[in-house]
Amino acid sequence: MTESTTGDEPVVVAIDGPAGSGKSSVSTAVARRLGYGYLDTGAVYRALAWSALQHDVDTTVPAAVQALFTDFHTAVSLDPEVVAIRVDDIDVTTAIREPHVTAAVSGVARVSAVREGLNGLFRSLIAESTRPGVVVEGRDITTVVAPDAPVRILLTADPAVRAARRSAELEGQDAGAVADALRRRDASDSTVVDFLTAADGVSVVDSTHLDFEQTVDAVLEVIDQRIGAHHGR
Ligand code: C5P
Repeated sequence: MTESTTGDEPVVVAIDGPAGSGKSSVSTAVARRLGYGYLDTGAVYRALAWSALQHDVDTTVPAAVQALFTDFHTAVSLDPEVVAIRVDDIDVTTAIREPHVTAAVSGVARVSAVREGLNGLFRSLIAESTRPGVVVEGRDITTVVAPDAPVRILLTADPAVRAARRSAELEGQDAGAVADALRRRDASDSTVVDFLTAADGVSVVDSTHLDFEQTVDAVLEVIDQRIGAHHGR
């Protein structure tokens, strides 16, 4: 058993969704409100892509990515107040958000040995958390990493809205180029994991017509319905 509301292990709130759905900011806010930990699995895939670029590894060659992965050491914060990730001794928190890393990440994420290895890492990080729960976000959390989680949510939004949000986050970058990059990444990612349709038992929160606070409230509402968490509203 990996998740339980009665045992020692933290309750898992699993949140999947495409880029620009508001996953990271909403998951962080939800974790803060509940006093839970927060695990951004995308950041770990990004850290591996960053490492591949540092070592001139061709991310289109799975064997090369797999070889790099055998020597990949990362440390990621599960504290929603402290967003931080390191590779070896290097703080890569900001570097992993750069467009060239974003463009390379789907390549590393499609290597099955990488996915298996990282899924094991994610499960141990969750199990080791001393908080009562962990909000875990990514693309395959509800289906692969924590399919038995008591709360599983797919956070979606219309593609045009997602592109507009992402472009507002990435000030100074051309809006058309941001929308194109997001479309390409969705297309590439969805060949590996179907994160656009909710699996059985997964609640959908569509944030197309919701602002940030309304989305956080909608997610807290689902959590409340599923496990009756006291989130101090
Ligand atoms: O969520 P974020 O945009 O930071 O994720 C970066 C990339 O990491 C995604 O585009 C996807 O390729 C990969 N990813 C994944 N599985 C996850 C989380 C992220 O394949 N659970």
